[in-house]
Amino acid sequence: MTTHVTIVGAGLGGLTLARVLHVHGIPATVYEAESSPAARAQGGMLDIHDHNGQPALRAAGLTEEFRGLVLEGRQASRALAPDGTVLFEEGDDGTGGRPEVMRGELRRTLLDSLPAGTVRWGHKVRTVRALGEGRHEVAFADGTSVVTSLLVGADGAWSRVRPLLSDATPEYVGMSFVETYLFDADTRHPATAKAVGAGAMFALVPGKAIQAHRENGGTLHTYVALRKPQDWFAGIGLADPAATARTAGEFAGWAPELTALITDADTAPVVRPLHTLPAAHRWERVPGVTLLGDAAHLMPPSGEGANLAMYDGAELGTALAAHPGDPEGALAAYERDLFPRSAGEAADAVQLHELMFGDDAPHGLIDMFTASE
Ligand SMILES: Cc1cc2nc3c(=O)[nH]c(=O)nc-3n(C[C@H](O)[C@H](O)[C@H](O)COP(=O)(O)OP(=O)(O)OC[C@H]3O[C@@H](n4cnc5c(N)ncnc54)[C@H](O)[C@@H]3O)c2cc1C
Repeated sequence: MTTHVTIVGAGLGGLTLARVLHVHGIPATVYEAESSPAARAQGGMLDIHDHNGQPALRAAGLTEEFRGLVLEGRQASRALAPDGTVLFEEGDDGTGGRPEVMRGELRRTLLDSLPAGTVRWGHKVRTVRALGEGRHEVAFADGTSVVTSLLVGADGAWSRVRPLLSDATPEYVGMSFVETYLFDADTRHPATAKAVGAGAMFALVPGKAIQAHRENGGTLHTYVALRKPQDWFAGIGLADPAATARTAGEFAGWAPELTALITDADTAPVVRPLHTLPAAHRWERVPGVTLLGDAAHLMPPSGEGANLAMYDGAELGTALAAHPGDPEGALAAYERDLFPRSAGEAADAVQLHELMFGDDAPHGLIDMFTASE
């Protein structure tokens, strides 16, 4: 008889685990802090990679559903100079290994694939406590609690489960993204829509960037990157015009079709501070508990984080199915592969971050694009 699995966090990682367990007939409950599936906008597009995200969805039996979500043409990419000159351009001929989907739609597909009641919304974990012999008590903010003999922390960067395994805490990387949206851009902001093009657009110089992606319809989703201390961003999330002007002021002299992604935003800007765990983060085996996704390996955004979280979930679910009656054997096998995989990806993410925002920007990124053509 396989142990019931208690998962904290209904992100893409935790949901993929729950779904793969379900495919193998293993019961699981996912406790999620958010009050409902619609409690928060799920962010923009994700490219789902053929070496991690796609195999995870295959293990979840959801390849066909995933294919139905793919937004054609969004794998195109271009790099622009601050004056708007095109430095590099690559179209989407449909043969790339990284099709783009909306994160919210992918999460909805995973949720719909689970038996009703699998996710318990509005269950914010406050503390977790070891009871011995691999059992743990999970206590929620509403005063209730559960006891489990198999606990998985899929609760992201600020995991409440991680302290059972490791003392590591996320550290600020010295850079934040400011997120903005322009809607109906082809009609309302045609010059900016043209500058962004059909897929992803990067305008990078050392320590700062305007990066945007065309999403559904004419929506342009932007991450403005700035290397600044965290307190520099105070007030920006409040849609304070002075704070928006402060952000735009960092791009004085840039082409107006690029700075319009900041100054003409249709939504209040959201600050996304970037944090990481040590690249070689790992832990000794602790009976009855493990981590996946950002809870295990938080790294600078490299386009891999969500893919890795899903892959971890699929690998852990498959390992539990392959070790019936031996969850410790399953966790040991999962972690044996997890640690080197995560360390390698984290080192690559740090390198990409340096290529994008380091002293040589944008040339390192353009060389990388050109080499992969
Ligand atoms: C600006 C930015 C851009 C990114 N772009 C990309 C990209 O293009 N492609 C890509 O692959 N990755 C990207 N990433 C990384 C990606 O978002 C993460 O790696 C991924 O979401 C990790 O998935 P997860 O399931 O581990 O955690 P999360 O997605 O963080 O999910 C964790 C879940 O746990 C819940 N939770 C948290 N605490 C508790 C608690 N105490 N109790 C109960 N529930 C809790 C949360 O509400 C959430 O639902 C980006 C990251 C950032 C910051």
